[in-house]
Amino acid sequence: MSRTAVITGSTSGIGLAIAEAFARDDANVVLNGFGSAEEIETARRKCADLGNGRVFHHPADMTNPAEIADLIETAVREFGSIDVLVNNAGIQHVEKIEDFPVDKWDQIIAINLSSAFHTMRAAIPVMKAKRHGRIINIASAHGLVASPFKSAYVAAKHGIMGLTKTAALELAESGITVNAICPGYVLTPLVEKQIPDTAKARGISEAQVKSEVMLKSQPTREFVTVDEVAAVAIFLASDAARQVTGSHISIDGGWTAQ
Ligand code: NAD
Repeated sequence: MSRTAVITGSTSGIGLAIAEAFARDDANVVLNGFGSAEEIETARRKCADLGNGRVFHHPADMTNPAEIADLIETAVREFGSIDVLVNNAGIQHVEKIEDFPVDKWDQIIAINLSSAFHTMRAAIPVMKAKRHGRIINIASAHGLVASPFKSAYVAAKHGIMGLTKTAALELAESGITVNAICPGYVLTPLVEKQIPDTAKARGISEAQVKSEVMLKSQPTREFVTVDEVAAVAIFLASDAARQVTGSHISIDGGWTAQ
């Protein structure tokens, strides 16, 4: 029987690559996230064409606990269970604390941290009943170290590291593992789009933008790719990772080794 994977924030970037990787493994996939109807249908069809599983999109807004509960309920109704839950949805805002908009703080904490509590709260009983489950939280290098002007993001990502460890301990004897992935800078479409403009604005090459502006803190001076993050998620969901729980895997080009 096909596995079922629910991936929040999977209409773009890392989440989409993770969804595609599970679809390629013949999992049923529940996509979630924003985008035009056409973009969402393109992503859905691409995933569906990669394997033998079924794929649908649920529009739950990760700031809304009732919609998050409906995401999990719908996945269970459609596919009978949830084997893999990937908490990936996330946003960023960069500003010093005294100017940081209060609503932005609340939104980032809701999407980047609290949404994972809400998905887990709903999915854990389903996984417990099956005595099997994999929960993968997409944290960040910013779950381990800080950078200035990213207070809400760093707080949320440190928070999700704590939630990961707590859930792992609670579920240690239930056949459910809970882990975090901590990527450094990942070449998502969002980041890619900024490179030509920054090169033009600063009068430097695109290679210099990557190595001297964006990747200052990443010793390899190379971006992580979305597919590399997806490969770590596939490993954490595998039987081989059965004893990996309450842990994190960094994929950050050496950033947090410094
Ligand atoms: P992205 O902007 O490409 O994708 C974010 C996804 O989240 C999109 O599908 C978007 O629609 C969805 N989303 C945003 N707000 C939502 C909401 N309220 N409800 C439901 N979905 C919502 O970003 P990405 O770079 O792929 O980031 C994905 C995750 O990886 C985030 O948690 C981010 O913090 C983390 N991360 C990214 C990087 C990086 O350099 N790109 C590094 C470390 C960690």
